[in-house]
Amino acid sequence: MDTQPQPAAPESLPHDCQTMPITLTFDDGPGPSTPALLDVLGAASQRATFFVLGSHLSTSLAMAVRIVREGHCLGNHTFGHARAGGISNQALIDEIATTDRLIHRAYRHAGVVAPDILPLRLPYGVSPADPRVDVLAGLRRKHTGWTFMLDDWRRPPPSPSALAEAMRRHAEVCAERGRDPMFCLHDGSRYAEARPNTVEAVRLFLNQSR
Ligand SMILES: [Zn+2]
Repeated sequence: MDTQPQPAAPESLPHDCQTMPITLTFDDGPGPSTPALLDVLGAASQRATFFVLGSHLSTSLAMAVRIVREGHCLGNHTFGHARAGGISNQALIDEIATTDRLIHRAYRHAGVVAPDILPLRLPYGVSPADPRVDVLAGLRRKHTGWTFMLDDWRRPPPSPSALAEAMRRHAEVCAERGRDPMFCLHDGSRYAEARPNTVEAVRLFLNQSR
């Protein structure tokens, strides 16, 4: 993400993609920070869902295989991260199909059975007036939103401690309201940028949550 995201309604992930009560999702990877993030998640026994870009998967098969082998889920974030109206409906359908194929290839290489329907999150999220909503309906695919998107996509990003504190506050609010948080963070970008602040923020957050 590099612009203010649209609000999006959360949609539950498949049961085996969830780690209650904290649901972590990471968009725009795999990228240079993904290995360090996997180390942090593994040390905390925390599972996550990675909404990956097909454009990165085509050159990062080994990293996607590691994500799956370590118990996480892969989700579809389209191939090229086009915004609403940026590509035709047919091009979007093709991008989703291509990325689905690349994700299934990663599950196959990992020796892990993929979920029946892969989670899907469109770039920048969706609002009710978004024409891409009709495309998803035609494909019978649900959109996975979030309850809180971190602004770790900004340049420069907030400090790790500021990000971790924002996560802690949101988790508290959710606990008070009896709902489960779904965090959206970023382990990469369209331009394959590193996200060291995100990795450290997740480490700080998981350490204080235990
Ligand atoms: Zn994105």
